Amino acid sequence: MTAETTTTTETTDPQNRQPLVEIDSVSKRFGPHLVLDDVSLTVPHGSVTAIIGPSGSGKSTLLRTVNHLEKVDGGLIRVDGELIGYRRSGDNLHELPEREVRRQRSKIGFVFQDFNLFPHLTVLENVVEAPVSAQRRDRSEVTELARSLLARVGLAEKEGAYPRQLSGGQQQRVAIARALALRPAVLLLDEPTSALDPELVGEVLEVIRGLADEGVAMVVVTHEIGFARDVADTVVFLDRGRVVEVGPPASVIDAPSHERTRAFLRRFR
Ligand code: ADP
Ligand code: MG
Repeated sequence: MTAETTTTTETTDPQNRQPLVEIDSVSKRFGPHLVLDDVSLTVPHGSVTAIIGPSGSGKSTLLRTVNHLEKVDGGLIRVDGELIGYRRSGDNLHELPEREVRRQRSKIGFVFQDFNLFPHLTVLENVVEAPVSAQRRDRSEVTELARSLLARVGLAEKEGAYPRQLSGGQQQRVAIARALALRPAVLLLDEPTSALDPELVGEVLEVIRGLADEGVAMVVVTHEIGFARDVADTVVFLDRGRVVEVGPPASVIDAPSHERTRAFLRRFR
């Protein structure tokens, strides 16, 4: 693989001294409802974290705080050493202007449950769009990278197709290629297979597994417990906005120490 097509996560910290993602005591309210309650989590470089938990437990909200799609009410988030959404001056935090937030967001790949491809753009155009417009990278360089990423997710022949002409599994693989084209420091995936027909889940999980094998750092919200066990370095069980249990799959999935984790996992047996 050439340097250009390498998607192993980039870092400004080659010594890996600090975590890639650091979620520090984050709280988030929607009105009176505390949906994230003092959540702390660190994601080391090159690692995969799976977030599991019941519907409504705050998984999506947590992912969305990492790229400042949701503002936190308390706590801090750093990605690759950079404070997200704020700048510090003395003891005070000042919100970053939208332009800066967009720059930060473009370093954080996000894959949504429902793909969110641009319906009026071809597959190739979907992948090329953001690096050119948001990151002002050279179109021909990005196009070359986009083609290699499409080949990587098994869709080289589909570059001229429109999203509506693809299956859900194919669309989600395009969405993954699109996120990687940003050369993100970390890839966030929010239930990437839950909108798919069962027979299409495997092809998307295979792509994600391949990225994990190459060292792409990811945080993935998933109900695919077997996949989390195989691929994740760390599993986080979130319930009612709190981290109930965190650790390697062998403990959180196979030998959970909390009754709430056990009760949740029983549904998947
Ligand atoms: P999960 O992804 O684990 O299913 P979410 O993060 O989507 O959970 O939601 C956590 C809680 O926050 C839920 O009770 C949900 O109804 C609530 N919630 C999420 N987004 C909003 C919003 N924009 N406004 C108000 N409440 C919200
Ligand atoms: Mg969700």
